[in-house]
Amino acid sequence: MPKDYAKPRLVQHKEGMMNKFGSVTNNFMDSIEKVKVATLVQEFGSPLFVLSDKIIRQKYRDAVRDFAHQYPRVQFSWSYKTNYLSGVCAIYHQEGSWAEVVSEFEYEKALNLGVPGEKIIFNGPFKPYESLKIAAQKRSKIHVDHMDEIFALEKIAGEIHRPIEIGIRINMDVGIYPAWSRFGFNLENQEAYTAVSRIQSSGKLIIKGLHSHIGTFILEPNAYKTAIQKLVFFAKKIREDFSVKIDYLDTGGGFPSSNTLHTQYLPGHQVNPPIEKFAEVICGELMKYVGMFDKPPLLILETGRALIDEAGFLISTVVARKRLSDGTAALVLDAGVNTLFTATWYKHDIIPAQAYSQIMENTVIYGPLCMNIDVVRPLVLFPALSSGERVIIKPVGAYNMTQWMQFIRYRPAVVLIDQKGKVHQIRRKEDLDYMTMLESIPPYLLGRKAKDLPRKA
Ligand SMILES: *Cc1c(COP(=O)(O)O)cnc(C)c1O
Repeated sequence: MPKDYAKPRLVQHKEGMMNKFGSVTNNFMDSIEKVKVATLVQEFGSPLFVLSDKIIRQKYRDAVRDFAHQYPRVQFSWSYKTNYLSGVCAIYHQEGSWAEVVSEFEYEKALNLGVPGEKIIFNGPFKPYESLKIAAQKRSKIHVDHMDEIFALEKIAGEIHRPIEIGIRINMDVGIYPAWSRFGFNLENQEAYTAVSRIQSSGKLIIKGLHSHIGTFILEPNAYKTAIQKLVFFAKKIREDFSVKIDYLDTGGGFPSSNTLHTQYLPGHQVNPPIEKFAEVICGELMKYVGMFDKPPLLILETGRALIDEAGFLISTVVARKRLSDGTAALVLDAGVNTLFTATWYKHDIIPAQAYSQIMENTVIYGPLCMNIDVVRPLVLFPALSSGERVIIKPVGAYNMTQWMQFIRYRPAVVLIDQKGKVHQIRRKEDLDYMTMLESIPPYLLGRKAKDLPRKA
């Protein structure tokens, strides 16, 4: 058979050009918090996640200040699923944050990290009976998601011989579509009201809080204004009808980081509202209604990605440069969607970690998986890096270190750079021992070796 003939193709090389965001400069990034990328990779390998203690604390303190300035009774609760590495949670807890968990694993992890039971918020649609019971005994803030959980908690109240304090998760229309309606009780169709009525009739549970988490990466601060209004008026209604006294309102998380969604044209750091905007709207709205409560309710926030995304960097190495059959330039990195789950949602910044040539070309950046979906960045104007050269991908602090996949590769190490610039490994790179630690081969499959096993008498 004759071989297919592909016509040679001329590709226009582009110098770094002016665009509407300014000129493209040779802005490589060869260090993170003053620690050289080369040093980090030499010691911990590539790919490598790097977190900055300084940025984590800075973001946290700024956010708390933004809220507390306008509404003093505020409490943050760290969303474990956003990044539950022990070293990360320890920073938030040191800063005074509670823990917000959504599974028995996360609940156990919070207890293990020394968080007092009453400072753990237990959310989520599936809380196994045994962990619900422990959470009830430890007086954690259990936010009920559905009727079956109410029945389970009433049973537990009988078993531990005392009523259990709870919060109720509420979902509602806040003008963001599709609305998240699968968690908690719906407000508009009276489901939440019926649930309260049902809870009051048994007397085994005491409603102390109302919770909502309206979605994630919410770009419209006014959605929270609506949420606060609806929660406050629901609190008023159930107080009038059932004498339920609400101690706290929890508006969940959902603020965006500075990442850029694939659907966004302008860069996220320019157009995504900062936390202070959300603080303004939420506190401003709540202040209008504080008079309706005996005591201003505690305002709880479970902000995840907006607090930690910018504190995370991923160092990755170019393993190959190639050209696709249509002539498109491509780079293959040692980190793909297995390591960088959020590449599915974001156009991350990918910055060369060394000086590079100004010749730019539209390039697809792939990961190392043998799967077509393993794209770190679809077509982007990028310099022609060579294999062995490195890039820094950012911001990557949120969700990647919990949603990373083990598929065909070891997950990389994670290091934390402290305020003094000292580097601490907070998670080792995986190895074969770790990967096979939970496995066993039944003796009948052991072949020759099986014969050598001692025989039962
Ligand atoms: C995931 C989650 C959060 C954190 O959400 P972000 O969008 O990362 O701020 C907070 N509360 C609940 C209930 C969650 O499920």
